[in-house]
Amino acid sequence: MANKYEKVTELALRKGFYFSSAEIYPSATAGFYEYGPLGTALKRKFVKIWRQMIVKKDDMLELDGSTVLPGTVFEHSGHFKNFVDPVVECKKCKKIHRADKLIEEATKKHTPEALSLKEFDKLLKKYKVKCPCGGKLGKVNKFNMMFSFTVGPRKSEKVALRPETCQNIFLDFARIFKVSRAKLPIGIAQVGRAYRNEISPRQSLIRTREFSQAEVEVFFNPKKANKCPKFDEIKNYKLKLLRLGKKKVQKIKAVDAVKKKIVTSKLSAYYLALLQKFYEEVGLTDFRFREVSKDERAFYAKETWDFEIKTSVGWIECVACNYRTDHDLISHAKGSKQKLEVMDENEKVLPHVFELSMGIDRSLYCLLEHAFAEETVRGQKRVVLKLNQKLSPYFIAVFPLIKKDKLPAKAKKVIQLLGTCWDIFYDESGSIGKRYRRMDEIGTPFCITVDHQTLEDNTVTVRDRDTMKQKRIKLDKLCNFFLK
Ligand SMILES: [Zn+2]
Repeated sequence: MANKYEKVTELALRKGFYFSSAEIYPSATAGFYEYGPLGTALKRKFVKIWRQMIVKKDDMLELDGSTVLPGTVFEHSGHFKNFVDPVVECKKCKKIHRADKLIEEATKKHTPEALSLKEFDKLLKKYKVKCPCGGKLGKVNKFNMMFSFTVGPRKSEKVALRPETCQNIFLDFARIFKVSRAKLPIGIAQVGRAYRNEISPRQSLIRTREFSQAEVEVFFNPKKANKCPKFDEIKNYKLKLLRLGKKKVQKIKAVDAVKKKIVTSKLSAYYLALLQKFYEEVGLTDFRFREVSKDERAFYAKETWDFEIKTSVGWIECVACNYRTDHDLISHAKGSKQKLEVMDENEKVLPHVFELSMGIDRSLYCLLEHAFAEETVRGQKRVVLKLNQKLSPYFIAVFPLIKKDKLPAKAKKVIQLLGTCWDIFYDESGSIGKRYRRMDEIGTPFCITVDHQTLEDNTVTVRDRDTMKQKRIKLDKLCNFFLK
């Protein structure tokens, strides 16, 4: 029996939601993925809702930056030095592993990535950790996860692919603030690709070497973090928080989380709420914000909440919510010798930053797994993706009952009638039952069937994906039906 992860991966491949890059070559590099037509549509719709519910809702500004950035940027951001994984080589099979992951597998406990090399060596010894092949392990080393290379014919200019999209936002902050005549607090958002040379990419979309992020960096005056103007909108909204040392998730009102100093400010609480509301909107419920301890936080963060979603392969971190302070602007101001302060009313400030750094691909995997269901209905088995209707790659499928008697022509007229506001799929091959099954598997909420009665009285049957119930609707009422 395949587990749920395997079933979702199999469905994704078979239907072309996503699959390995260059899969026709046996030498294809691990950790790179392609989205096929259905996956591309799903991703586009996911990002659209993110834009509506976070970027536009909060009047944020959006930019689209370059993925290649000069090496100096990463010297000053600290990535060349600190963006490292602890790695260890097996003396027997020569495989390289992540030391923290090996310890985690041996102890079944979370191991912080940020320990010193000596501490890792100690832990490996203490738990008698070996390579999965049984071989002895060498000493732990640091491995930098940046993809670095040179540009130009002399190969003298060192550059790197960005390991996170946010660096562009920090680099562009001063210009964007000026040209947009922005005022603090202001969110700047970006959707784009980032790259990390993961040692062991795995679990398809969950750990890849090239990935898409949807990031928000909110710049604010640190003296006014508790004057968040929109806080009142969400003050009674309950955040799902897993605090340090606690085993159970608590539902805490935003206002109480601020009062009890569980979060650092009203501003942090407001953005956590905005994010949680977004994931509720796309149809998820099994999630939590996990408070991240000091040892485990990224090197720049003062407060971190990892937004995690429960799946069959464990809790998956989908968004890192970091209070990055002024770390990035200070580093880049120093590195570039530019002044990055801005005016906030009559005060000159170097803003602090709170970020919501979302992994799109991981989120899509979680959505697919949560939507995936196997059911037996009236003795028949079916696989169905119960995706939120706004995310389904196709909203409607149109079928002529059979391929003759002018039914295909009539079905195409129905498509014309529906216009261009919905994504519509047309299918005339195979039995009607098989066509329904195919649409269930890719999450299409409605199927319209054109039959002989349609030719007589201009009615069609509309089948609902989740209830599998059908009803006859007049063609002139069809658009209104779907608008509802
Ligand atoms: Zn080995």
